[in-house]
Amino acid sequence: MDDRGLQSPCRCAELPLPAAGYALARRVGVDETNGRFGEVTVQRCCACARLWLRYQLEYEGIPASGRYFFGRISDAEAATITPEAAIPYLERLEECLCGGSYFGTPGQIRQRPLPVG
Ligand SMILES: [Zn+2]
Repeated sequence: MDDRGLQSPCRCAELPLPAAGYALARRVGVDETNGRFGEVTVQRCCACARLWLRYQLEYEGIPASGRYFFGRISDAEAATITPEAAIPYLERLEECLCGGSYFGTPGQIRQRPLPVG
């Protein structure tokens, strides 16, 4: 019997999964802070059921500006967080996961403030 998935940490804790690895839990809205129009959602990992706050951003007309961030979030916070609170929330975390054309390759990020501008 293959039960490794239950004993080892889920891959979603290390790197962002392909989009199909998540189910949309809540559409939080659009963060218009500084005119950046970041799309904020709460995603649930299909493998371990963990909740992630996802922030996706792309500047129209700027090549390689697409980027997204994933940070762990509790059920309670996921239910109440607002689009404008998403970046401050992610910046308070020890680390978050990132990816998109801006970064080139997905990874973990500890940079503060987050590169959203
Ligand atoms: Zn997971």
